[in-house]
Amino acid sequence: MSAAGLEVAAPKKKCEDVRCPFHGGIKVRGRLLSGKAVSTAGKGFAVVEMEYLHMVPKFNRGERRRSRVSAHVPPCIAVNDGDTVTIGECRPLSKTISFVVVESRRSA
Ligand SMILES: [Zn+2]
Repeated sequence: MSAAGLEVAAPKKKCEDVRCPFHGGIKVRGRLLSGKAVSTAGKGFAVVEMEYLHMVPKFNRGERRRSRVSAHVPPCIAVNDGDTVTIGECRPLSKTISFVVVESRRSA
């Protein structure tokens, strides 16, 4: 299923947001990341945390690292704390936001 040029399902709801990749004018290009929504208290955006393994050659082991990015949440996509979300890179929308949520799955 492809929508807005992405390999994600389009949201069932419609919205009027100009900053929506499905119903507005936002183009998603660049990186497509997937992570966990750790904070959805902010208005119109969510903080998404990604965890990755960084290998340390000296000890031949990996260490867990994490990074956080803020992503715009269009009104047609519901994001709650703990949800697994897919975010796509877009043009900078504000000082710290250059990603937009394109898909959200409620984690069990
Ligand atoms: Zn929308």
